[in-house]
Amino acid sequence: MNDSQKKSLIEQGQAGKVRHSRATGSAATGALTAVWLMLQGVLVSAPALTQTTKAQEPLSYSGLLEKIEEGQVNKIELDTARGVAQVYLKERNSTPQEVALFADDRNNQPLIEAARANNVDLDAQPTADGSAATWLLTHALLAFLLIGGLLMVLRRSGNASGQAMSFGKSRARFMMEAKTGVMFDDVAGIEEAKEELQEVVTFLKKPEKFTAVGAKIPKGVLLVGPPGTGKTLLAKAIAGEAGVPFFSISGSEFVEMFVGVGASRVRDLFKKAKENAPCIIFIDEIDAVGRQRGTGIGGGNDEREQTLNQLLTEMDGFEGNAGIIIIAATNRPDVLDSALLRPGRFDRQVMVDLPSYQGRLGILKVHARNKKLAPEISLEAIARRTPGFSGADLANMLNEAAILTARRRKEALTPLEIDDAIDRVTIGLKLNPLMDSKKKRLIAYHEIGHALLMTLLPNTDPLDKVTIIPRSGGIGGFAKPVPSEDSDFGLESRSRILDNIKIYLGGRASEEEVFGHDEVTQGATGDIQAVADYARRMVTRYGMSELGPLALERSGGEIFLGRDLMGQSVEYSNEMAVKIDHQVRTIVFTCYEEARRLIRENRIAVDRLVELLLEQETIEGDQFRQVVAEYTSSAEQQLVGQKI
Ligand code: ADP
Ligand code: MG
Ligand code: ZN
Repeated sequence: MNDSQKKSLIEQGQAGKVRHSRATGSAATGALTAVWLMLQGVLVSAPALTQTTKAQEPLSYSGLLEKIEEGQVNKIELDTARGVAQVYLKERNSTPQEVALFADDRNNQPLIEAARANNVDLDAQPTADGSAATWLLTHALLAFLLIGGLLMVLRRSGNASGQAMSFGKSRARFMMEAKTGVMFDDVAGIEEAKEELQEVVTFLKKPEKFTAVGAKIPKGVLLVGPPGTGKTLLAKAIAGEAGVPFFSISGSEFVEMFVGVGASRVRDLFKKAKENAPCIIFIDEIDAVGRQRGTGIGGGNDEREQTLNQLLTEMDGFEGNAGIIIIAATNRPDVLDSALLRPGRFDRQVMVDLPSYQGRLGILKVHARNKKLAPEISLEAIARRTPGFSGADLANMLNEAAILTARRRKEALTPLEIDDAIDRVTIGLKLNPLMDSKKKRLIAYHEIGHALLMTLLPNTDPLDKVTIIPRSGGIGGFAKPVPSEDSDFGLESRSRILDNIKIYLGGRASEEEVFGHDEVTQGATGDIQAVADYARRMVTRYGMSELGPLALERSGGEIFLGRDLMGQSVEYSNEMAVKIDHQVRTIVFTCYEEARRLIRENRIAVDRLVELLLEQETIEGDQFRQVVAEYTSSAEQQLVGQKI
């Protein structure tokens, strides 16, 4: 910037020389130099302008005409605004002279004609004075801005310690809702949790009731459960029922790049909350700050620990009857620092689990309130079909169905939209069907393989539908069962698990039977992974192999970075490892043989079903079973379901 400023100064014309020489005299450096340079320019330029012209012998108008005729003039610049001509003479090395012009333009005609006749360069020039004035103005402004900026920087660094606090404060990201508008009625399917939290509402509404008998009101409640089960909703409902403000912040927002910011946010949050008591403070994802201290890869996280310490301090810093109740949510209670769970802090834990059938029905009723349902829709049927759905999944699914209904210009949601919405939520967005190709055919055989086993094997849920309409996420097609009540509890028998493994292997089995060993594709990767998981768990956790009921591995093999990173969940010798591998392999190979045998023996039905699938792209369960019944004799059915 310094250089370019200098350059622009030099190029400014007559007064440039003077300014330049004075400017280089100043000894300051850096940004200050620039300011100085310009300031001096400002001061010097005004007198300099007038001096340059005065120093020379004035040239008259007639004198100029003479010089033109004599050929001594190199160039003339007409400045009509100021009524002067800048004359550059050849002998004087282009140092210009000013000649006054006539006020009336017509009277200057002779000069122009003479110049033309003698081949003198004629130029119209913008007002030298005017340009100097604007130049002064812009540069003075720039200078002041720069000085202002410098002063601000100086002042800032002057009291940096005070600055850090308001820095954090200005970016505080907690939210306050005076009224959440959510009531317990809006929360369904988690009745036990609701009951437990009913008490919290009473703490907030009538604290006297408890303090009168000397009871200390708990400060913190920890909601524990998988995502989407309604933890946030529940916390809001408590605030709504008690009619108190709701402060919320996410644990991840506490953890910032700058050390100290998180802690200052905690302070701000509690300060605001105390001003607004009684109220609820909701800390979402508390595991983000509340992890066990002093663990994790690469040592502790100072910032996080400071934040957590601040949180603990704040929680200790007010009396139980201050009217503030802190509700925190997490799905990882196991990684939380034990100090957080001590009495006087989050000593109450409330489980918020995935809803059961009754729960799902309740949630569906809540979210169907504001939707138009066709009379043939049964919420019971939907609840039965959606084991494993969280409250958020159900709400999302009903909303998708409503969107589809609007898109199809229907009056009310029908079972068709519900169906499509369930697929959309569970499997993915529908994509355009594939063109007829070898790939499409292979996918059809693969999916028919799954669907056929689902239909033939005895210990399975019946086929709902099989389709080769691709879905987002690289899904070429799928065969899916009607979920049964059994899957609700996750209580699976050995025979059900074995049949399940065979169904998973059915896709690859069909590929191999039909296209041969060399043509199988990696489209079965997911299936094979699932099979490996199932078979291994049968052996090492469920005690369902010849090794007997030995717990050889623990559930939840995930690695928690917060705690026991190298968590050993393996509890057997090397010899046992070999035996386990052998058992797993036996299960998988036997199931695969069985799957291939069923495909082979029903090849005619398989071919017919593939043609049908290629034609229709989707086969519903009933139609599928009908076709299978036509092609399979009762004798063959007898062989099905042999024990291994
Ligand atoms: P979490 O905080 O447990 O992850 P949320 O409370 O954010 O879950 O739930 C997201 C949305 O899902 C809610 O706004 C609500 O619409 C719906 N939802 C979840 N659980 C329930 C429930 N038990 N009853 C009614 N709606 C629910
Ligand atoms: Mg939430
Ligand atoms: Zn498959």
